[in-house]
Amino acid sequence: MKILVINSGSSSLKYQLFDYDNKKVIAKGLCERIGIADSNFKHEDASGRVINEGRSFESHSDAVRTMIDTLLDPEAAVIESLDEIAAVGHRIVHGGPYFSKPTEMTQASKDAVRKCYPWSPLHNPANLTGVEVCEKLMPGIPQVGVFDTAFHQTMPSEAYMYGLPYRYYEDHGVRRYGFHGTSHAFVARRAAELTQCEGEQHRLITCHLGNGSSFTAVKGGKCIDTSMGLTPLEGIMMGTRCGSIDPAIVSFIAKLDGDEAKDVDYIMNHESGVRGISGVSSDFRDLHAAASQGNDRAKLALRMFCYQAVKIIGSYIAALGGVDSIVFTAGIGENDDVVRQTICDGLRYLGLIIDEELNRSTRGKEVKISTDESSVEVFVIPTNEELSIAIQTVEVLGLV
Ligand code: AMP
Repeated sequence: MKILVINSGSSSLKYQLFDYDNKKVIAKGLCERIGIADSNFKHEDASGRVINEGRSFESHSDAVRTMIDTLLDPEAAVIESLDEIAAVGHRIVHGGPYFSKPTEMTQASKDAVRKCYPWSPLHNPANLTGVEVCEKLMPGIPQVGVFDTAFHQTMPSEAYMYGLPYRYYEDHGVRRYGFHGTSHAFVARRAAELTQCEGEQHRLITCHLGNGSSFTAVKGGKCIDTSMGLTPLEGIMMGTRCGSIDPAIVSFIAKLDGDEAKDVDYIMNHESGVRGISGVSSDFRDLHAAASQGNDRAKLALRMFCYQAVKIIGSYIAALGGVDSIVFTAGIGENDDVVRQTICDGLRYLGLIIDEELNRSTRGKEVKISTDESSVEVFVIPTNEELSIAIQTVEVLGLV
């Protein structure tokens, strides 16, 4: 059985085709700069074919058509007919309060995705465009939406409500939704398989540390709290996002610069975080390089990031009533041993001990980095959001 996974952004479309029986990717590609000059097409597949060339993509339809033609190309023989694709799973960023699980895309579910546009004005319209184009160009193949927010729908109201007048929640849906749910769900499921702890009682904290970063407190496999909020700006400071700050700073900056609120929005999303502090880069590799050259602001950015991580993890230990396992995942979590070590050092009071040598040598592979004496199991688990979308698509359609 073959499952196609689509991540349709405002100007790009990524895809992976899985041979679901062995969970292997048999083709993947990226259509970049859709609707912009100098569009580009990248593709590679199990036949060994690699494409990386300029192509004109005036619309998402062009991109999907190119993907289909490339998959069907008889020379590479990835697939002979679209009928071989059992379903298409689409990443959809915001499911609001409407989606607590992956859902087959019908008129009603597409209308509900539209209702989430105010909370995700950049992503949701692009995600839905991907669904609609695939419906048109691959008629008869079920299309499933897998939502970044869905995993967090089990949060209790005391965790998802903000201390604002209740009408903002009732009338405008202002509440914590959380993001990166597909990744948190994937590593939480894997951690449950790896750990010795009892399912219902298992207290887990998942740390998705990438260009965007978020934490989730998971009890017995269910999310009870998460650090991102109504938007992906809340929580820890990130590559270019400020994370949680005193909300009064927004109007303070707006008045200071005479800027419009949307400009403050831009500053908080694109000019802040470790890049804003260091003045160097949003990429942690650059920060470490600058810090090792003695750049004090790069060192400060790294210290702030790890300090905030320890504080959020500490708050989730309180929320969970203790912790059995912690998982690091995503670009920084999987690759940055210095950040992992610093965060784990801040949690030593728990009796958490990691094997420093093993941690240093672990990059992008699944490893338990805590020692047998440690009171908390610490894992590095590479995330795989595309595979997670494929698995959820198959499960919701009952294809296995
Ligand atoms: P992601 O958003 O999960 O793709 O993560 C991207 C981020 O991971 C980059 O911006 C880097 O900050 C970080 N990253 C990737 N590789 C490394 C590495 N080898 N060491 C430190 N940070 C890394």
